[in-house]
Amino acid sequence: MSEFDLIARYFTRATPGAVLGVGDDAALLRVSSGMEVAVSTDMLVSGTHFLPNADPFMLGHKALAVNLSDMAAMGAQPRWATLALSLPDADEAWLQKFSEGFFRLAGQHGVELVGGDTTRGPLDLCITIMGEVPQGAALRRSGAQVGDDIWISGSLGNAALALAHLQGNVQLAAEDFAACAPFLHQPVPRVALGMALRGVAHSAIDVSDGLLADLGHILECSNAGAEIAFSALPVSRTMQSYVEHPLGRRCVLAGGDDYELCFTASVAQRNGIEKISAQLDLPLTRIGTIIAGKRCTVRAADGSVMTMEEQGYDHFR
Ligand code: ADP
Ligand code: MG
Repeated sequence: MSEFDLIARYFTRATPGAVLGVGDDAALLRVSSGMEVAVSTDMLVSGTHFLPNADPFMLGHKALAVNLSDMAAMGAQPRWATLALSLPDADEAWLQKFSEGFFRLAGQHGVELVGGDTTRGPLDLCITIMGEVPQGAALRRSGAQVGDDIWISGSLGNAALALAHLQGNVQLAAEDFAACAPFLHQPVPRVALGMALRGVAHSAIDVSDGLLADLGHILECSNAGAEIAFSALPVSRTMQSYVEHPLGRRCVLAGGDDYELCFTASVAQRNGIEKISAQLDLPLTRIGTIIAGKRCTVRAADGSVMTMEEQGYDHFR
């Protein structure tokens, strides 16, 4: 199969939302009036971000999901994507499943694949996503204000717990692994939440590298500190039985791949945010407060400050 047959068969779909999609030297996109374009790229390297034998359907999903999550964190509506693929060979069964996983999630979000590049080489993929956000309305990392509540969507640490099991660092019961694995392989990007938070949140980020690391980016960009109540952190039923152990704490505070949104908003927005939570049927939990200074303090239930070791940090840095 030639490169062009491959592109035509697996990666060419109708793109009514673009002036011109796959097939020319460049795609043509028309930005809606009054909107800005949010652009983000994420690369997934075999062996680093996923295992070489990863299920191709789930990989197609996840590769797009991590990009959609960046749009969510900006409050942007995802519109278009390009896909650069390096493949060891034209494995049609793999391509079929990969493209199905990609296009199923793309369809759910109205995202159109408008171009890309295909080469032979080690398995790598790189997606660039483009979305629209009303002028001036994007959520940034830099907007947190002293006194803001700190919020998190969904629950924390499930993906890291599943990964710890796959890496042999913990032995989960079969039903516990089954409950956590979808968070690792098929994360749900919080796109609707990001758009609902326009004009509501002061700052936002998606949790890809762990809560403390990603909240740390908000703090750095906003020149602020934070105080987090460990007991307030939302965890799944599965995680409840691990959260008092070092590994569980590490998953919750420093585990990657959650793709939840962490955002800050003034206290006056509490009711509005509860309404958004109900509308989206998505738990939104207040986990702490933005304070003056630079430090992020995590307090245990008894009010004591958790040490870095208790936070699981030393194992990650
Ligand atoms: P060029 O020679 O201009 O780089 P290519 O031959 O690489 O063009 O690609 C031909 C067309 O197919 C272009 O429109 C390109 O955007 C698109 N394309 C290539 N690979 C992919 C892919 N993996 N997914 C979607 N579109 C692709
Ligand atoms: Mg090319």
